[in-house]
Amino acid sequence: MTTVRTRFAPSPTGFLHVGGARTALFSYLFARKHGGQFILRIEDTDLERSTPESVNAILEGMTWLGLDYDEGPFYQTQRFERYQAVIDELFDKGLAYRCNCPKERLDKLRERQMAAKVKPRYDGHCRGKSIDPSEPHVIRFSNPVEGMVVVDDRVRGRVAFNNGELDDLIIRRSDGSPTYNLTVVVDDAEMGITDVIRGDDHLGNTARQINILNAWGKEPPRYAHLPMILGEDGSRLSKRHGAVSVIAFRDQGYLPEALLNYLVRLGWSHGDQEMFSVDDMIELFDIGAVNKAAASFDYAKLAWLNQHYIQHGDTKRIAHLLSPHLGHLDIDPSAGPDLTAVVEAQAPRAKTLAELAEISTFIYRDFDDYDPAAAKKHLRPVAREPLVRMRAALELLALEDWQPELLHHQVDQVAAELELAMGKVAQPLRVAVVGRAASPGIDVTLHLVGKEATLRRIDRALAFIDARAAQA
Ligand code: GLU
Repeated sequence: MTTVRTRFAPSPTGFLHVGGARTALFSYLFARKHGGQFILRIEDTDLERSTPESVNAILEGMTWLGLDYDEGPFYQTQRFERYQAVIDELFDKGLAYRCNCPKERLDKLRERQMAAKVKPRYDGHCRGKSIDPSEPHVIRFSNPVEGMVVVDDRVRGRVAFNNGELDDLIIRRSDGSPTYNLTVVVDDAEMGITDVIRGDDHLGNTARQINILNAWGKEPPRYAHLPMILGEDGSRLSKRHGAVSVIAFRDQGYLPEALLNYLVRLGWSHGDQEMFSVDDMIELFDIGAVNKAAASFDYAKLAWLNQHYIQHGDTKRIAHLLSPHLGHLDIDPSAGPDLTAVVEAQAPRAKTLAELAEISTFIYRDFDDYDPAAAKKHLRPVAREPLVRMRAALELLALEDWQPELLHHQVDQVAAELELAMGKVAQPLRVAVVGRAASPGIDVTLHLVGKEATLRRIDRALAFIDARAAQA
């Protein structure tokens, strides 16, 4: 049996889009599932649009997602000799021909065809002509004139194209450069690709590529064309809808496992299962079960998955990943409590690591202003006594006793002494220390904030209450 070999073949003309990432993931999973190899090929023949930054963005995105490839990256710009040799071979065998049709002729042909409401295509004018190679010319592939070409697609099923509707497409431009369909065909054949998985915008190219492969005497790979990804409004997913580049998701604090889990479910399902580790995906993913219909990208669902992974992931790892997000807020995490304690306390409240960092700033520095509603409700004169008592009790607590359990006990005790419900003590204290009414449990909150900052912020709250009272 031949070994399965798949490839991801992006053109480095922009960032790595989530659509590309899904194509890469499905190719990766297919290879892994069948014990095969996954290859990365950079299709950089468009010299004007390809950039090294984009190559880097693709490599960075692949690394971040953990989609490790067994071979490559191969660069098409380093394979021009092979493309030229194959073009020459096709020409020598009479499977391709020189064409010197001037632009004016092609324009007129096109106009006539449009007027006659037929699909514009080259009419084979130069087939069989003998054109001197010193003349400016392109080389066209002699597409079969009759019959059908059938794409037996793993997702779309059988899709048949009438050869009569396909062009004699240009495989070498007048400047000597090879074109996309030719380079892909040569690479897929010579890299031993058995299974091509790519976006369904390439379906028409597939028919052409199969014809070239057949003419050249190579067996075409199996194909699977993935449906497009749409935004929630039904148009093609773009920046208008939100983040679309893999690196943008990383920078917003999504975890790679959440994005992969989201992408695998985009157009594929396995019963009602929502959560898939990469190992689950490799075991369960079935390219034949991918939906034909376009899938729409649901940011809320992705955020939900991300929260799940933040909450249930390895705390040490999440803490490590959180660190740069705190850095972006000018916070030095080493100046605060153990980051794993921050993650444990805050994970249930954050959908992304950026959000987790944002809601944790109170741990590291004094907040600017109180949330007005929280201050109005909880920093009132009745809160004065509980806060004064709490301050006195906490001041006596030794630093090594500044632990959730003992802190909890102090709050309980003050509430008991004042014959108040615990919330009447804890809520003013929380607003005093955090600036708003929501935070982890009061014991954990005080523990994370630390003794010095807690006492300072209680003083600030007392001054706030007094200033309010004086104004009234
Ligand atoms: N380079 C092509 C693209 O980025 C993909 C080619 C292929 O997968 O065959 O759209």
